[in-house]
Amino acid sequence: MADLLDIRNLSVAFDTDSGKVYAVNNLSLKIGRKETLGLVGETGAGKTTTALAVMKLIQSPPGKITSGEIILEGQDLMRVPEKDMFNIRGNKISMIFQDPMTSLNPVMTVGEQISEVIELHQKLSKDELRKKTEEMLEVVGIRKERINDYPHQFSGGMKQRVVIAMALACNPELIIADEPTTALDVTIQAQVLELMKNLKEKYDTSMILITHDLGVVAEICDYVSVIYAGSIVEYASVKDMYETPGHPYTKGLFNSIPSLDEDVESLTTIKGNPPDPSALPSGCRFHPRCDKCMEICKHTNPEFQEVSPGHFIACHLFKKGEGESENG
Ligand code: SF4
Repeated sequence: MADLLDIRNLSVAFDTDSGKVYAVNNLSLKIGRKETLGLVGETGAGKTTTALAVMKLIQSPPGKITSGEIILEGQDLMRVPEKDMFNIRGNKISMIFQDPMTSLNPVMTVGEQISEVIELHQKLSKDELRKKTEEMLEVVGIRKERINDYPHQFSGGMKQRVVIAMALACNPELIIADEPTTALDVTIQAQVLELMKNLKEKYDTSMILITHDLGVVAEICDYVSVIYAGSIVEYASVKDMYETPGHPYTKGLFNSIPSLDEDVESLTTIKGNPPDPSALPSGCRFHPRCDKCMEICKHTNPEFQEVSPGHFIACHLFKKGEGESENG
């Protein structure tokens, strides 16, 4: 299947008092039609910056995409002028942010806000617009009678439903959801995730789900990319990733989540902290935290390579097509 989105060697830098800081480094990832890709990593790993770069919403200055290609349906978004990006955002790619209040205007009714998105991209009569807005509310499980209510009249989970309705209003090819349930109560999180999963199937939309929660990924995603210090260190199907994680960082992420099946007294955390983007370690960026670190890791950045069909890892423990070496 042809890729819907193909990001190649993307780098994003920010000007700071201490010089240029790279939040995303030579990052590559792909997503096919109707697929859901989980983008997983710790806070500060570059997940949101990657999403904003795809939307071409990096604020400049201080930020800038310094290199790379972002190919959407064969078109390099890096070459698309800003006036045309307006049509791509909403129509082809939509974004759902962590906090629904980031996307909602407190002084407009939810109906006005959904209508506004539809009107920007579709020419509809007044009656058609109202009908479409009511339809979108009902699609996300909100009664159409609430069309004239304001955001403050809704709970957190209901506000996020409104944001999902806005994201879906123009039937985009791709939705980028940035930690969409993190700000919600646990019980509401499950409902919103279930809704997103159902709507994704109903609308045949592809989705990049940004999260630090591997449980959410298992629930909803087809593929997973693990990001560390602005680069992808492992990519595989959810099944492969959960059955045979390879990169020591991915293994650390798995070891740090609680399991219902095992009687564990304490969880293992990954030692140390994520690196400061203004002073990234040489060689493998993970080497100061890695228990398997070898001499080569300290000075040579490992290649991102396919170690078994469809499973890619950037780590010196692995050789192309041969799986893990004896050192692992
Ligand atoms: Fe650890 Fe070396 Fe692999 Fe990096 S390349 S994850 S330091 S073993």
